[in-house]
Amino acid sequence: MQENQRSRRLPGSATLELAARAKALALAGRPVVSMAVGEPDFQAPAAARKAAVEAIESGQVRYTPAAGMPSLRAAIARHVSATRQIPVEPAQVVVGHSCKHVLSNALLLLIEPGDEVLLFSPAWNSYEAQIEFAEGKAVWVPSLPNLRPDFEAIRAAIGPKTKGMVLNTPTNPTGCVWNRAEIEAIAALAEEHDLWIVSDEIYRRLVYHGSEFHSPTSLSPSVAARTVIVDGASKTYAMTGYRIGFAVAPIPIADAIERMSSQMTGCPNYVSQVALQAVIGTEPPEVEAMHAEFEARRDVLIPGLRSIGLAVEEPGGAFYAFPSVREHLQGRTVEEFCSALLEEQSLAVVPGTTFGSPDHIRLSYALAMADIESALERLGKFLK
Ligand code: PLP
Repeated sequence: MQENQRSRRLPGSATLELAARAKALALAGRPVVSMAVGEPDFQAPAAARKAAVEAIESGQVRYTPAAGMPSLRAAIARHVSATRQIPVEPAQVVVGHSCKHVLSNALLLLIEPGDEVLLFSPAWNSYEAQIEFAEGKAVWVPSLPNLRPDFEAIRAAIGPKTKGMVLNTPTNPTGCVWNRAEIEAIAALAEEHDLWIVSDEIYRRLVYHGSEFHSPTSLSPSVAARTVIVDGASKTYAMTGYRIGFAVAPIPIADAIERMSSQMTGCPNYVSQVALQAVIGTEPPEVEAMHAEFEARRDVLIPGLRSIGLAVEEPGGAFYAFPSVREHLQGRTVEEFCSALLEEQSLAVVPGTTFGSPDHIRLSYALAMADIESALERLGKFLK
């Protein structure tokens, strides 16, 4: 038996593999500090946990409609409407197994074979794999040296085959938060060239003082009409293992995503839907506490990296730093640099090539302050 061509083009997730390797080393007794993880190191809010337990105990854990429970779709519509200042109907909302799930459904339903889709480098590794699996072509657009969008390069990358783009602000892996002028400029290009936008807003709630989140959908009804928002519970509510996410799309696309789910995966997990419903649209105290802690960690990590000689932009959101290691590669590739760092200092970080940049490493600061301090010490020793 042989897998097909499409399958052979599909790489595994490099970040998940690396995180698994770091975990295996730790289990084998190595004092590993892993900055490879992309998940909050916090408990889900108590309200979500309680609702999940009650749902299980009720004995009524059953199928729901493929697009999710009507009450949850309505709650998500109200929440997205309030946080993006736009009208949203429940019919525009499709609940899925995760942000990754609704994202891949949306791309599979939007892309025709050969369509070009813009990715703003550095970008999360799953976008390219998902675009190529949908038989599209990912077109990587380089950023400015400060890792912000380069509009000259974006204009130059748009051609007759360009049909859409994946936008992600705050950005994994840089923490860059696109400002209002940048969102306006990208939306204007989308309108001028009739492009769709898939807006991955999973880190929306994790934006720190001095930065502000902007969704392209907030700009005008015509931009909203060409945009699919994908979001979920993983980062905002530290609910990664619950696997629950949602898309908000123009109704024909929402219907298509629902049809796809109805045939391919069925309804999302009932327990996780109930857990999300318990917190969506509320602001559980755990969310602000986690947000404040991430900001405090960022404020230790960034000066710490600079003090050991690494150039790094200040991330305005998410929980990643993306310093340049170009001056420290000494003839090695960034993958070799990361392997040596893991081998010599038991510190796991992700090579920037995973996100389209051979000069950077990604450090997640979703780990305890003491581990961040230990990581800085190990990295400092390694660079010496
Ligand atoms: N989008 C981005 C940019 C991410 O970094 C991640 C997770 O790392 C996801 C989506 C996946 O979210 P979920 O856990 O809901 O699939």
